[in-house]
Amino acid sequence: MSKPDRRLEPGATIGILGAGQLGRMLALDGARLGLKSHIYAPDAGEPAFDVAAARTVAAYEDEVALARFADAVDVITYEFENIPAATAAFLADRRPVYPSPLALEKTQDRLIEKRFLNGLSVATAGFAPIDSADAIAPALASFGGAGILKTRRFGYDGKGQTMIGDASKGAAAFAAFGNVPAILESVVPFTREVSALGARGRDGTFRCYDICENSHTNHILSRTEVPASIQPATAHRAAEIARCIADALDYVGVIAVEMFVVDGASGEELIVNEIAPRVHNSGHWTIDGAVASQFEQHMRAIAGWPLGSTERRGRIVMDNLIGDEVRRWRDILEEDAACLHLYGKAEIRDGRKMGHVTRVYPGTDR
Ligand code: AMP
Repeated sequence: MSKPDRRLEPGATIGILGAGQLGRMLALDGARLGLKSHIYAPDAGEPAFDVAAARTVAAYEDEVALARFADAVDVITYEFENIPAATAAFLADRRPVYPSPLALEKTQDRLIEKRFLNGLSVATAGFAPIDSADAIAPALASFGGAGILKTRRFGYDGKGQTMIGDASKGAAAFAAFGNVPAILESVVPFTREVSALGARGRDGTFRCYDICENSHTNHILSRTEVPASIQPATAHRAAEIARCIADALDYVGVIAVEMFVVDGASGEELIVNEIAPRVHNSGHWTIDGAVASQFEQHMRAIAGWPLGSTERRGRIVMDNLIGDEVRRWRDILEEDAACLHLYGKAEIRDGRKMGHVTRVYPGTDR
């Protein structure tokens, strides 16, 4: 089977697995560079289909549809990390898949991810594998009586995780997740949450945007501010951690590394929470606030093109529009500093990311 791995020319077709807002923004920025997007996802109602040159609506397990999709595209990427491993392997036999299936393998499962990070000497929260409810009490005791139980796989936006402060509640929490493999994490007493968003090209070049500071409401990202209010040395370390992870994975594309900032004995310390092997919500500001957006950067990287500049155009505040917040769209349009992005989702639901607004203010410091 052919698996050409050449640099693409404008006019080439990028295959994107997943059709949410990330796929939509990838397709939009790809189009600006003359790249066509072919979106593959199981649900025809998703927002990326509105802006794609071609579409496949099929299950991720449908090998006939996957083979046809692979034949129709030049390279394949994905906008979410829960692509089944078998799907990624099937496609990788036919076309280049970026980031590689190795990145999926190391980031789909929280236990594998934490062991991978610690293997790189990157600090994480304390953790213990929980394969049965009996494992919770001793792990909890080792973390001083409190911990966060998380399913190993398929968690996002706080789904599949719960705080446990009492061992007697452990079994019920584990059962509520369906008795699936989980981990217990120590509770990190963080002062801030930040993310390092970088891109690695096919030639190994790495470029990182300024570190983003993130605030969550109900476990969902609500605001990103850039630059983060951290020491320059901490920001430098955060970018180096992202580079170290990307190098270890021989990564191609945009990667986001979510971190906690902790006040340690010798100043600010960084603890990695998780890796997103894809473009990330905390990087949406780059569309309006950086020379090359994260979406353009990802397309450049997977096309084998030079990476763009990550230079920031001002002081950034990006707010997600979640659920009913999107009803403010008309007022936001009246504001001169506001860049409004709506994802075209038909139905407003609680907790659903409907759009975002980025405000770029003069000056680059906070
Ligand atoms: P996650 O789903 O792992 O990204 O976690 C969602 C949010 O829960 C994080 O952004 C933190 O605000 C919080 N959180 C997750 N893990 C921990 C931890 N070990 N200690 C403290 N807070 C956490």
